[in-house]
Amino acid sequence: MAERPYVVGNWKMNGTRAMLAQARAIDRAAQNLMKVEVALAPPFTLIHATHREVEQIGVGGQDCHPRAEGAHTGDTSATMIADAGAKFVILGHSERRQDHGESNELVNDKAAAALEAGLRVIMCCGETEETRDGGKAVDFVSSQLETSLPEKVENAADMLAVAYEPIWAIGTGRTPTVADIGEMHRAIRALLVKRYGEKEGAEIRILYGGSVKPENARELLAADEVGGALVGGASLTAESFMGIVIGAAELQQDQ
Ligand code: PEP
Repeated sequence: MAERPYVVGNWKMNGTRAMLAQARAIDRAAQNLMKVEVALAPPFTLIHATHREVEQIGVGGQDCHPRAEGAHTGDTSATMIADAGAKFVILGHSERRQDHGESNELVNDKAAAALEAGLRVIMCCGETEETRDGGKAVDFVSSQLETSLPEKVENAADMLAVAYEPIWAIGTGRTPTVADIGEMHRAIRALLVKRYGEKEGAEIRILYGGSVKPENARELLAADEVGGALVGGASLTAESFMGIVIGAAELQQDQ
């Protein structure tokens, strides 16, 4: 477990202003659990409002365009979400890769734009069930990250996190074994050390994502090299999301 675990809620395409009550409740509870870094990525439409409502937790976006401005109807740039109050952005989520055909190269360009705009990046990766069953999960995720991650990142330990999210575990209630998570996270760690050096590479937090719930958080977060969680469905209410944050805090205290 990382020195300060990072637990991030991804609200996906969920939430109108009524959801701000949940953000406020999460923020209040997080103020008593400072050993865990807590953040929320609401939809674009709620970034500014969430930023204004909260004091403690980080607020981020779920995507950004690789260009800072221009003729890109319907898109939102990193500069714009930073201006709205975002401090980080989730990139390369499998739902973006699937729904919008995002390639590793495009995700890499987006990461460069985000860092240029001063946003921290959570880079997602993960294999399909078919790839895992074929025994190729580690190779697939390594090559996905090799191409998606920027070559150089200043202050990488702070500016970058990686989220390993097996596609078949997202929203399904199924999770890999702790041993499988550990194997993948060790492979990601080796790649990060190779790319960003012994010190920075060793400190970049690697989050696990995919059906994390209050009931399984402690077990999943205890896997080798897991430095936090990226949480979808269970981040939509303060009660379930904080159950996960409390699990991370307890685990950190026990170690
Ligand atoms: C996600 O999509 O980032 C995610 C982890 O979803 P869930 O927690 O709902 O599986």
